Amino acid sequence: MTTQIIWGSTLLTGFDAAGEPIIRRDAGVVCEAGVIVATGPVAELKTRYPDASVIGGRDFAITPGFVNAHHHVGLTPLQLGSPDHPLELWFASRIALRDVDLYADTLFSAFEMIESGVTTVQHLHSRAPGTPQDILAAAEKVIAAYRDIGMRASYSMALRDQNRLVYEADQDFVARLPDHLRPAASAFFQRFTVPLSDQVAVFDELVTRHGEGERIRIQIAPANLHWLSEKALETTGELQRRTGLPVHMHVLETPYQKAYARKRTGGSALAHLDRLGLLGPHFTIGHGVWMSEADIELAAERGVCVCHNCSSNFRLKSGMAPVNRFLARGIPVAIGIDEAGINDDRDMLQEMRLVLRAHREPGIDAPHPSSAQVLRMATECGARTTPFAGRIGRLEPGMAADLVMFDWPAVTYPYQDEALGFVEVLVQRAKAKAVHSVMVGGEWVYRERRFTMLDRETVLAVLAEALAKPKTPAEIERMALSQALLPHVRRFYDGYLDGLGDEPHYRPSGRF
Ligand SMILES: [Zn+2]
Repeated sequence: MTTQIIWGSTLLTGFDAAGEPIIRRDAGVVCEAGVIVATGPVAELKTRYPDASVIGGRDFAITPGFVNAHHHVGLTPLQLGSPDHPLELWFASRIALRDVDLYADTLFSAFEMIESGVTTVQHLHSRAPGTPQDILAAAEKVIAAYRDIGMRASYSMALRDQNRLVYEADQDFVARLPDHLRPAASAFFQRFTVPLSDQVAVFDELVTRHGEGERIRIQIAPANLHWLSEKALETTGELQRRTGLPVHMHVLETPYQKAYARKRTGGSALAHLDRLGLLGPHFTIGHGVWMSEADIELAAERGVCVCHNCSSNFRLKSGMAPVNRFLARGIPVAIGIDEAGINDDRDMLQEMRLVLRAHREPGIDAPHPSSAQVLRMATECGARTTPFAGRIGRLEPGMAADLVMFDWPAVTYPYQDEALGFVEVLVQRAKAKAVHSVMVGGEWVYRERRFTMLDRETVLAVLAEALAKPKTPAEIERMALSQALLPHVRRFYDGYLDGLGDEPHYRPSGRF
């Protein structure tokens, strides 16, 4: 068995109970069979493990690998022809997206994630059309991509059984369309209509195949309140109790979703999920932008996590998640880059910096997330939202060896005052180019800025060649349908917002 010592001038193993970073100087981790067996000063480790191969040096800083806790696709919607829209219009605009091979597509974003230090991804697969066999085949393509590139992945096939385009029944929406649009719209809905029992069968099959995987695991992802019938919500609870797996659900992403919940349940979406017994430490709210004070209180009491998708909230005009209030109530907050970050890529370091700076409330003593809180979100808190909870997110004996080696002079050269501290400098200054090497489960998936498992240029060339071909008749039809449906989707939401609960948690500016 090979034993490796990986060390640097700075080793961040995690955070203490008070949220303070635990930092050791000239220290490293010892890794055997993918697991950390010891940490400590490098001189001591070399004595204890004389046969170990030693990697690192004083120019490196080592941190736990990052967790992108909310991810969907490879090539971005913008690349595929759907620009930023408010979420509700974006659903229609995305109908136009081109067909891409899921294996190469998944790798495309996996390269981006790894080179910015992401070792684990929560892949929420939203929309695979076709039969249960088609959905399983799609899942296996995504999973194969992560397996081949060496990433740790929590895969889910989103449960969804209604309201596939707007926040009403598909047939009601189709009935209000002009005659000439109805067949194409119905056919589109039909492609995504799979009975709930078949969706559960797909989930069970995936759990059977991958549930105990070392780097691939499965989790439960009910898509969002509006996409699930009461029966589907109950099924979610049953699956969770039966498997013990974590649940990640988009909740209250936009003001329209808040209004929808009120129309459907007479109150808050979160209170409704709680009545069904869905909330608990296994439950992660994706987005949660429109959570009320009562929702935040309920989330804190039930021990649920929130995944903050900062770039996505900016890009799709979803609003500003009250992250400072989540943190004040001790809610674990993870970070998700979602479909794509502010630069239309998946750069976890950039996303962390955005989270750090997006929640700076005006006022000398007003709250804001600290760099340590943001780094903890990207590591330990993200880990907690996955089926790998307790095995990743920290660098301690017994944990998986998932880590990032930073070329520290690439962050600090030619000068960085030391008074600011390691975490402050890392979160505020480190760019992807400083990520020197990335290890997952004791295996280097990125070494000296090169991918070790697959050749990136080859994968990009596959995508380029496939997409250089003319659009297929089916793609052209979908583009036309998307364009034709947009005004009808827009009209559906006319007057939809009820204005209730619009008083913001934060006051970024003032009118009077
Ligand atoms: Zn999402």
